Amino acid sequence: MNEKYIIKKEVNAFKCLRCGHEWIPRVSMAELTGTIKEKPRICPNCKSAYWDLEKKKKKK
Ligand SMILES: [Zn+2]
Repeated sequence: MNEKYIIKKEVNAFKCLRCGHEWIPRVSMAELTGTIKEKPRICPNCKSAYWDLEKKKKKK
């Protein structure tokens, strides 16, 4: 695809630190390219509410 109406744009996206799923939130373009006001509550893939927290590595 190399059409003129297809543009590449940098937008905010999220990555689940639990399952690695990446997604773009359904917010306005202003928020996508500017500052996200609210982060998603859960990961749409694994439904984890702790998607933004990395698993703690146990020291042994
Ligand atoms: Zn996830």
